[in-house]
This record gives sequence, structure tokens and C-alpha cells, in this order.
Amino acid sequence: MPELPEVETVRQDLSRVLVGQKLSGMEVGRPRSLRHPDPSTAARWIEGGTVLGVGRVGKHLLIEVDRPTGDTDGRSLVVIHLGMSGQLWWLPSSTAAHRHAHVRIFGESANELRFVDPRTFGWVAVARAAEVATVLPVLERLGPDPLSGDFDATVLSRRIGHRQGRLKALLMDQTVVSGLGNIYSDEVLHAAGLRWDRPACSLDPREIVALHDQIVRVLSDAVSCRGSSLADSQYRDLYGLPGRFQERHRVYARAGKPCARCGETIRKERFGGRSTFFCPSCQT
Ligand SMILES: [Zn+2]
Repeated sequence: MPELPEVETVRQDLSRVLVGQKLSGMEVGRPRSLRHPDPSTAARWIEGGTVLGVGRVGKHLLIEVDRPTGDTDGRSLVVIHLGMSGQLWWLPSSTAAHRHAHVRIFGESANELRFVDPRTFGWVAVARAAEVATVLPVLERLGPDPLSGDFDATVLSRRIGHRQGRLKALLMDQTVVSGLGNIYSDEVLHAAGLRWDRPACSLDPREIVALHDQIVRVLSDAVSCRGSSLADSQYRDLYGLPGRFQERHRVYARAGKPCARCGETIRKERFGGRSTFFCPSCQT
């Protein structure tokens, strides 16, 4: 599943091609992929609008669209969640149709943004900016984004320091911190030297600081490598290219291989239906 670094890479790509672009419409091939509102209203809300910016909160992309002249309802937001397998493609509209292209947003330059999602866990929503909180309460519940200005060790301590839950479960809980999933929580915990099943309330202040620092460092490094593309994940950037951060993974999908820090064999355990990878020696 795309996590913060993959979504941020797509955000940067989108920002480059979409900002200033005038949108000429939208076509919905699979109605259930559009969470809000109905297809014709969604198309009306963005048609003739100009893209002002592309933002991100956790794993959500937010495309801000200025409403057409004469419309007094303010701006619209196109919110996109890539789910398990969602991809966004920017390509000429004349490119052959794709069976999993569930939503198409047309630009004025004869190019379009295609939302392609074979496993259909992703979604697109269009909302008037003033109504986003009501229409998409999921955005309101998100914890701080680690690469935004409002995330520091004090914030992390306040959010997990008193919790008895296991570290990995809390890091993956989007209402605690937004953007981390299965891959990056394993990588962050290894980098911080912490076991995935430690109760969060057992961390001392020094460990909280280390955890905060490694969350920011690992995610930033992964963004600079344009995310991770693994054999079992379908993540690609806006141009269909894979990321490179998988070459730098220290634990994820490396069971049986030696730990780069201490040489011990990386172990895999099942947790919450997912695989968890860690070093039994240098993560304590
Ligand atoms: Zn180790």
C-alpha cells in the first residue's frame, strides 16, 4: 500500500503538471470509486476551474481547484486516497482506455489524470472547500503529518507516551500519526532500535526523541528516493516509474538476511494479519 513517501512523491509530480492547469471535466467509470458526491455534480464542481495547488495530509492527496468565474460557492477540493493499489497517471487523453481507470479528470492541454485502481480500495471525492470536514470526517480525525511543521518529539510523546498499545500498532494508527503503514513502521522502528511489540508507555524520553527523529529521517530519505516499489506492491509514480527506496530497506521483506547494524538474522512475525520484520538483537 502506498504510504506517506509514495503519496508525497505523487503529490510533487502532480503539483508540477497540474498547478495552473484549467480542468475541463471529469468522467467516472466506476461510481463506487467516487465517494462524494454523484458523478455529474462532481464534474460540475471542477469544470472550468483552475488548479491552485496540490497538498497532502498523511496518505491523502488534496487538489485545490478554484471555482469558475461567477460561482460564489468558493473553492473545491479533489481528495484522492490510493488505497492498496491505486495509481495516478498523467497522460494524453487519446491514450487507449484502461479497464481499471475508474476516474478521469481532464485538463485543458489534452492531457488527463487517470485514477487506476485494480483492487478498488482507493477512492476519489470532490467537496466544496467549506464542506470538507463534514463530507470527509476521516480527514479531521487524522493525527499530525510527520513531515509537516506540527510534529515534534513533544507531540509524539503526548500522543503515545501514556498508551499501553504496541508501538507498531500505534505508529500505523492514522489517528495517532498519519502516513505510516506496514513498511515504514518496520523501517522506522529498526532505525530507532525499538522492538515493534514494546508497549508505548515503556519508552523513556530519550527513546521517544529517537523514535521521532527516525520517523522524520526515514520518511524524508524515502521521499528523496521517490518511495518504495516492491514485488508485491503496485506503486508507481505519475509517469509509471517505480521508486528506489526498497534498495535501502534494512528490515522490511528481509527475513533470514543479516541485520546491517549488528549481523543478527532478521526475523519475521505475523501481527494483525500483516508481516512484521525486525532484528531480535539490536531492537529492544
Ligand atoms: Zn540488528
